[in-house]
Amino acid sequence: MQWRVPMNGEQTAQDYEAARLAALVEYHILDTPQDPLFDEIVELAAIICQAPIAVINFIDRNRQWFKAVKGLSVRETPLDISICSHAILQPGLFVVSDTTQDERFTCNPLVTGEPFVRFYAGALLKSHDGHPLGTLCVLDEKPRELNDQQRFALQALANQVMAHMELMRSHREQKRLIAELENARREMASLAATDVLTGLLNRRALERRLRNTLASIKRGASPAAIVMIDIDNFKHINDNYGHPVGDRVIKRFAQRCRSIIRQADVLARWGGEEFMLLMPHTSVDEAYQAANRLRDKLARQPLVADIAEPLYVTASMGICSLKEANSLQERLHVVDQLLYQAKDQGRDCIVLEKSLPHIERSA
Ligand code: GH3
Ligand code: MG
Ligand code: MG
Repeated sequence: MQWRVPMNGEQTAQDYEAARLAALVEYHILDTPQDPLFDEIVELAAIICQAPIAVINFIDRNRQWFKAVKGLSVRETPLDISICSHAILQPGLFVVSDTTQDERFTCNPLVTGEPFVRFYAGALLKSHDGHPLGTLCVLDEKPRELNDQQRFALQALANQVMAHMELMRSHREQKRLIAELENARREMASLAATDVLTGLLNRRALERRLRNTLASIKRGASPAAIVMIDIDNFKHINDNYGHPVGDRVIKRFAQRCRSIIRQADVLARWGGEEFMLLMPHTSVDEAYQAANRLRDKLARQPLVADIAEPLYVTASMGICSLKEANSLQERLHVVDQLLYQAKDQGRDCIVLEKSLPHIERSA
């Protein structure tokens, strides 16, 4: 629509209307369901102004839309027959005592036909930053005036409409900010628990999982197994192929470990080229089957194939149980010792708790 409002500097009528519509959209009010609070306000406006019709309406791009309406059965009308679209062009109250005497409205179908509007009084609904959004208006089929008290009350009710809309807006904004904060918190928690190179859990996160698992075992869950895995002679890989290839080996090794575990198992990067696997509801013997699958796979498939010579690695592993009577610290010490023994036995082997004679060795 064409605005006849004072404009500063370079601002055009289109700019002004675009900013006004953007302000209206920000309130998320258009096409929302009826709300008893707004319904009560139009009831009050009609009672106070002793008018048969009262409306809270907003001027959209091509229509006026009624948030609350008393005395009319429509919820929107086209903009070109809207009296309110005139009302929002000026501040404060817009009163037309007799529409048939005002050339702007004599041919208006709302005047010449149903509901035969003769009297109009609209109080401006203005956004917090000054954009006219619509009106709270009362209409009558006979020409008349409002007294000072009615004028004051109509404007005060319009202010209440906007105060409520501001509250709804800030409530929505608050909810949005809370959701944003929660997302950021989740992201930070996930980053704090993740090893950057492999994307696995880091040591701190696994320690927490280990403590939780031990606590549930103490409450009656079945025992778990923990497997400590260390890549053999990794320093040589760094020395011979360079650090970037070393990094790729660590990443691929993590993927290889992942490929042999179940969904319930939890794998973490424990340190440089060390990994820890928590296998809930698993015996040491079952964990040994999984560890052996990893060992086989490492022997069969090179970890890095796109360099001069395919690169195979081996790993040493220690496996112990996590049972009711255990302390986590003691278990971590034991599994570390078992791994140390596997290294001592010549590497590429798996040492199980209480089964030192049963050491698995490579050929
Ligand atoms: P062992 O068989 O006894 O385990 O010998 P090793 O060479 O695997 O173990 P050692 O502890 O002597 O060396 C581990 C090396 O891993 C030393 C360290 O520089 C390297 N390292 C640790 N973290 C990373 C990493 O993120 N990237 C790379 N490329 N190297 C790492
Ligand atoms: Mg190593
Ligand atoms: Mg190591």
